[in-house]
Amino acid sequence: MLGLMQEQPLLISSLIEHAAETHADRQVVSRDAAGGIRSFGYRALASRARALAEALIALGVKPGDRVATLAWNDHRHMELYYAVSGIGAVIHTVNPRLFPQQIGFILNHAESCCLFFDPGFTALVTELAPGLTAISHFVEMADEAAVPLPDDPFVRQNYEHLLAGRTGAFAWPPLDDRAASGLCYTSGTTGDPKGVLYAHRSTVLHALSAGGPGGFNVTRDDVVLAVVPLFHVNAWGLPYVCALNGATLVLPGPRLDGASIYELMRSQSCTMAFGVPTVWMGLIDHVKNNPQLRPPDELKLRRVIIGGAAAPAALIDDLQDLLGCDVVLAWGMTELSPLGSIGRVPRKGELADEEARRRRLAKQGRAVFGVTMKIVDADGQALPRDGRAAGRLLVRGPWVTSGYFRHDAPLLDADGFFETGDIATIDPAGDLEITDRMKDVIKSGGEWISSIELEGVASSHPAVAEAAVIAMPHPKWQERPLLIARLREGRSASADDILAHMAPHIAKWWMPDDVVFVDDIPHTATGKIQKTKLRERFAGHQALQSGPN
Ligand code: ADP
Repeated sequence: MLGLMQEQPLLISSLIEHAAETHADRQVVSRDAAGGIRSFGYRALASRARALAEALIALGVKPGDRVATLAWNDHRHMELYYAVSGIGAVIHTVNPRLFPQQIGFILNHAESCCLFFDPGFTALVTELAPGLTAISHFVEMADEAAVPLPDDPFVRQNYEHLLAGRTGAFAWPPLDDRAASGLCYTSGTTGDPKGVLYAHRSTVLHALSAGGPGGFNVTRDDVVLAVVPLFHVNAWGLPYVCALNGATLVLPGPRLDGASIYELMRSQSCTMAFGVPTVWMGLIDHVKNNPQLRPPDELKLRRVIIGGAAAPAALIDDLQDLLGCDVVLAWGMTELSPLGSIGRVPRKGELADEEARRRRLAKQGRAVFGVTMKIVDADGQALPRDGRAAGRLLVRGPWVTSGYFRHDAPLLDADGFFETGDIATIDPAGDLEITDRMKDVIKSGGEWISSIELEGVASSHPAVAEAAVIAMPHPKWQERPLLIARLREGRSASADDILAHMAPHIAKWWMPDDVVFVDDIPHTATGKIQKTKLRERFAGHQALQSGPN
């Protein structure tokens, strides 16, 4: 017997209409490249999104068409999120930090028909335009139309001109909620980038779960700073989560250095902030280098959410101590829309001591409702949830991908689980801890050494600003760890100092064979340590010692 409830599709347009009706007093705050701030109530933003939807239809955009963006976080990018998906087309956010060649590949692979871009990317778009086979409209996301140059290789239109004269009295069309709504390519650290195609239903379900108390816990009283870019897995769902819950959303534009982020947090009284570890490292450096700042008094921050890469314990400590807020780790990936699990902040007195508290905070926490996890050994056998057994992490759920866009290869195992490429433990309380990525773990003498754990211990040395551990080939042990460290400005430490600091915290056979110092640790377009580059750079490195002694 079927239930007798209304069958209403779960559509992205319903999120912005809900915000317009119910949370009209809450804002989307947008900072531009020059530092200018503009605020739009959700009602005004919804009206602009509807006007843009009309304009897209007038340009000839049809359901299923891909509309690409190359843009930082601002109100126009957010309007595109709603306008494009709202008419049944697919918002295709492209990461401008990728190599131009990769950007060209992604735009052609997706056959996106329009490209909306920030004026700051005009040179990049001009360079790419001749090779972009499917794009018929290039739209500059600026207040005023830039005068087309005489040798303009493409017809450039202006965003505000497209909107001019449109009232926003447009009604969103009904759609099948399984229809595609968004497209995001993984950064392709191995092989070509692969597209993950989100749907209306998956996006709305993800927003309900990710934003709720079992997830990020975003409320109407929150002012949410999305440092995570709108081109990095839908800014972790924040444009949807904030509209659904009526939180004010602050979009920082292109300036993401520590000083600019601090100033925005202060001036907008942000209560929550989301970003990858490198962003928070920049913020902490700024606070440490400017002792006149008084973050706990000047800021209203309640929580910082860190995701996208492993966060060293020293960074978590610094954020808590210096900013006076809770720090929560979130785990996810492009293929998961992105949220899979979220860390838990212990209540006062819940855990026996400070060490237990730090151990808890270092975990990526419990699966959010909707995501089922399992860890398995090399043969696919389930491993115990004892917090010790580390295995391949697989996931299943309504916002987990079932296959890559325009790739025929089957992706899921017989039970419908997706292999994440991560290695993790799950403890008896259900808390997940990512110990490594499959391609980064050091396989030494038939055992695994966690590069993430070594990096965390090395980073707790006061002179170390950032640490990376990679595998070096070894004739006897197969692989051995090499530690690469960047020191804090004005600090010094020798390899022996750092190894001596690490020794009490790790097994003897985990000790790196050598430490090398660098001025800069390279990062990927999504803020992860670029280990492929480090492996190339240190190929053939001769270590101090060879294997465990
Ligand atoms: P890309 O691979 O394109 O850089 P993703 O953002 O999809 O982008 O990366 C997902 C991966 O990032 C995960 O598989 C995991 O290895 C890593 N990751 C994400 N969040 C965390 C976290 N909190 N701790 C450790 N690693 C994380």
